[in-house]
Amino acid sequence: MNTRNSQYASNFNGTVFFKNADDCLLPEPHNLACFRPSSRDELVEILRHWRALHQTPSKIVAIGAFSSFEFPQLNLVERESDQTGSQREFNSPHLFVDMSGMNQIIHVDKISLTVTVEAGITYCQLATQLREKGLAVANLSAYPEVTVGGGSGTGTHGSGHATHGHNQANQFISMEVVNARGEIQRIIDPHQFTHLGVLGVVTSITMRCLPMFYLKQACYDFPDLDTFDSLRLGAFKQLAGLDNFYSTMIRINLVDKKHHPLRCYIRTVARDENDFDFEQSFLGSPLLENSAGQEPLVFTGPYYDILPDHTTASRIKIPNPGTYHQAEYFVDNRLGSEAVHAFLREADRDDSFIKALPTGLKCRFVSSDDQWMSPTSSINGVNLYIAFQLSLYGSRTEVDLILKRIEQCFSDRQIPFTCHWGKLCHRGHAAVNNGLREGAKAMNAARAQLDPDNAFLDSDSELARLFAC
Ligand SMILES: Cc1cc2nc3c(=O)[nH]c(=O)nc-3n(C[C@H](O)[C@H](O)[C@H](O)COP(=O)(O)OP(=O)(O)OC[C@H]3O[C@@H](n4cnc5c(N)ncnc54)[C@H](O)[C@@H]3O)c2cc1C
Repeated sequence: MNTRNSQYASNFNGTVFFKNADDCLLPEPHNLACFRPSSRDELVEILRHWRALHQTPSKIVAIGAFSSFEFPQLNLVERESDQTGSQREFNSPHLFVDMSGMNQIIHVDKISLTVTVEAGITYCQLATQLREKGLAVANLSAYPEVTVGGGSGTGTHGSGHATHGHNQANQFISMEVVNARGEIQRIIDPHQFTHLGVLGVVTSITMRCLPMFYLKQACYDFPDLDTFDSLRLGAFKQLAGLDNFYSTMIRINLVDKKHHPLRCYIRTVARDENDFDFEQSFLGSPLLENSAGQEPLVFTGPYYDILPDHTTASRIKIPNPGTYHQAEYFVDNRLGSEAVHAFLREADRDDSFIKALPTGLKCRFVSSDDQWMSPTSSINGVNLYIAFQLSLYGSRTEVDLILKRIEQCFSDRQIPFTCHWGKLCHRGHAAVNNGLREGAKAMNAARAQLDPDNAFLDSDSELARLFAC
């Protein structure tokens, strides 16, 4: 039995910390232990050992790549505040399970096109290993360093409205979880796949894959916002009819308050990596050209080089810890125009949005799914969501003011919205995602069965609030 330091001290942006888990060994009722299993059986063995000693950990947190900005199943307390932003930490006695040591492909079935992986594998690792077998995953997050277990945890959607109509959440077929007692259980109900870390430690996941594919990205500039609706609606009609349409993304400039020019990125499936056959214009706008020394806007490559658009313009560079954040709101695409105009009217009132969102407003399109806790769940008949993806710079207090104004402007116009579980919001995830409360009830019942010790949900957390609705 060995417990080890985690390789992670803080999350992606340096705002959430876990107390130093310096090699302290359970059983010590109030100690924090960090365990980095290298296999499911190692995890099961240690949990059963502690159980036999009547020292089952009272609270357990599994961590994937630790890249989330928020952990709604936990009650995070302020650690210290300074000018750059607050730092929070999880303070209950608990076991911190670092999944980064469980990063292998367990099985690939080329006939049924499925792959079973250990949950700590990152999408990067998975995509490159699958490629060697001529296979691919249908969709990726804009940040492929996230793990499959962590990505499913927060309902991570892929980088846009994907081919085959699947968003990332729809990739999963089954999951294996281990509870605090070291019991192994299997989840096959797709409603539960956005698991939020509350069903147990997810140790392996079986997911769909497909033959390896290439994408090409074209990019077009539009001089003002008037084209937004033709892009949002017309583009979809026009593009969705194409056999090779993959996804589109629109970035709106906030600096030019009069026109709000925008840039539209269109991804289509390429014949192969030498397919440089691009539409020379789109809705009257010519194809942009790449400029030397800049990141390419127009290019062809393996899907996993094109989908991580997080590296395009959203992230200038990671500044000091605590000064880069993300938030994401999801609105029924049928209300997309109203929501974008509401957002921009608010943004135009002063310069604080320009300062906090120097790369503008990124809009993506995510098809809905059937998962109870997914922020893009098909509630109220929504088929397609427009995602307001925000890469925010500033302290948490500054960023929170922006988020407060966004939430308020949607609410004032009675535009329903949800938020990403792994990112920031102002009113709290339980309040913002209140529309998911019916699914939350069912999820809570499933959780209570799988985790009879309530070890994976903090009763003071946002999620517990929503479950109690
Ligand atoms: C730069 C950047 C870009 C991003 N782009 C996108 C994007 O394009 N689309 C999008 O939807 N999201 C995006 N995200 C958000 C990110 O995908 C999610 O927050 C994702 O959950 C992070 O995965 P992770 O492996 O880091 O998990 P963590 O952050 O470590 O954990 C996330 C949640 O899952 C739980 N968890 C993790 N692993 C397990 C496990 N094995 N068993 C049980 N519970 C577990 C954790 O307790 C936690 O609740 C982005 C994040 C960053 C930092």
